[in-house]
Amino acid sequence: ATAGETHEFRAEIRKLLDIITHSIYTNREIFLRELVSNASDALDKLRFEQSRGTTVADPDAPLEIRITTDKEAGRITIADTGCGMTRDELIDHLGTIAKSGTEAFMRSVADNKDAASNLIGRFGVGFYSVFMVADKVAVTSRSFAPDAAAARWISDGSGSFTVEDVEGDVPRGASIEITLKEEAKEYADPERIKAVLRTHSNFISFPILVDGEKTNTIPALWRESKFSVTPEQYKEFYQFLTYDNEEPLATIHVSVDAPVQFTALLFIPKNGLGPMAFREQLHHGLDLYVRRVLISKETKELIPEYLGFVRGVVDTEDLPLNISRETLQENVVLRKIQSVLVKQILDKLKALAKEDPAKYNAFFAAHGQGFKLGYGDYAHREAFAELVRFDSSALEQADGDADKAGLTSLADYVTRARDGQKSIYHLSGPSRAALDLNPHLEVFRAKGLEVLYLYEPVDEFIMDSIGTYKELTLKSAELADAAELDAFEGTAEAPKAPEMTAEESGSMDDFLKAIKEILGERVTDVRVSTRLTQSPSCLVSPDDRMTSSMQKIMRLVSK
Ligand code: ADP
Ligand code: MG
Repeated sequence: ATAGETHEFRAEIRKLLDIITHSIYTNREIFLRELVSNASDALDKLRFEQSRGTTVADPDAPLEIRITTDKEAGRITIADTGCGMTRDELIDHLGTIAKSGTEAFMRSVADNKDAASNLIGRFGVGFYSVFMVADKVAVTSRSFAPDAAAARWISDGSGSFTVEDVEGDVPRGASIEITLKEEAKEYADPERIKAVLRTHSNFISFPILVDGEKTNTIPALWRESKFSVTPEQYKEFYQFLTYDNEEPLATIHVSVDAPVQFTALLFIPKNGLGPMAFREQLHHGLDLYVRRVLISKETKELIPEYLGFVRGVVDTEDLPLNISRETLQENVVLRKIQSVLVKQILDKLKALAKEDPAKYNAFFAAHGQGFKLGYGDYAHREAFAELVRFDSSALEQADGDADKAGLTSLADYVTRARDGQKSIYHLSGPSRAALDLNPHLEVFRAKGLEVLYLYEPVDEFIMDSIGTYKELTLKSAELADAAELDAFEGTAEAPKAPEMTAEESGSMDDFLKAIKEILGERVTDVRVSTRLTQSPSCLVSPDDRMTSSMQKIMRLVSK
């Protein structure tokens, strides 16, 4: 080897190294993720060059990552057959050229020193994270350019590094030899290495071998063509992802090029996680990969809350690998991905409802509670209106339990509507039994008009949000006025309200006055009704006012 040449690290990299070596004691395992992701990037680059016909050194070398451990010496080596680095590139990329992520990392650390260990993961400061665990690092590399000479970079992570030429046979790619710090010797254990790989690098698309044994048995399934993936493979991947023993209720596998490039593999689980998990948004979000490298798990920005039951991964080429998690919220690319995904998921649900109503009912029973929050997604209101389900006076078998199959869609309601019916009627109540006894429904029953039964506060918000469905107004049975109901002939068995003589209606006026006096401010009016067929009286809302249950909700909210 030629005599080593010493170089100073760039000033901000020196600062970064100082923080990495002296302030970070937790979550150090992510150094492996960073090195493996660099190896994967280098392999991607090489693969790209090869695919466009560039002549490369060692053209037949398999594209893979080899990790070897030496427990006794406390050393590990991470070698890849990627694009490698020339001597100049070693100097530039590993010490003297500024990096965008570094700046952001330093700024965040300055704000909050205690959070440094979390930040390093978030910012992906990359290669330098190796100094969390290393006393000394040697990078030996040969560029893919056929006549490039090999070189070695060596540093202990303090102020400087040395670079030397290397003679003899050096394979294409990079080999990073790490002499572990005393307190990081655990990483010389192949089992520990494998465990870390499983956590952070399980879907790297190149084989990773630990001491010769191939470890990443689950390939980046989402990147495969959906025609080549078997149902069994989907199931395995789903189970790996969720730890669910069931198979998924539905699988959505898409590859999109415009308006943004991404691949997504999404699953709808058979079972919900329960109301508690839902409320706490446990496991809400999709795993975000950028070029097969995991950027953040359960990324909420990729999926709206009401579709929070969907699990899966998204992999995009359109984001930088070192994107910071702090900025995901405002990220335009993620917003575009989310909007495509919402459409895909709603389309899938529509297809499911059409092709397999029983399965769709199972979906609604498991996830309907959360899904109903979709009333707030105005952009997809039409799709949402097709997908919500309700109990109904026309369904004898249902008793308000969502998992009793007999819920109805608005579309099915419309097919049962009477000629000339201009509204879809609904009424809130605690249960089917209670609603069956509700005096408001007597006239609807008498006239053969169907009423949707609403059991949850959110149902009324849904009605408000949908507003009109196929030109029928969604209207509370409480607010239906007599004139519109009079237009419908009663069915044969409906008892008729008796006609009153002049004398009878006169004494009725006195009676109403007396009742009004008794009730005083508690009512706005007391009227004779022709709607009741069995009950002597009932409470109604003044027209165009809130339904009684909405008033209850408002009282709760304003407390
Ligand atoms: P990033 O991966 O975000 O670019 P890193 O700090 O992880 O930042 O790596 C810095 C640079 O070093 C990379 O951009 C790449 O040019 C080079 N590099 C690191 N590891 C390898 C490798 N295994 N093979 C080839 N080049 C590498
Ligand atoms: Mg990197």
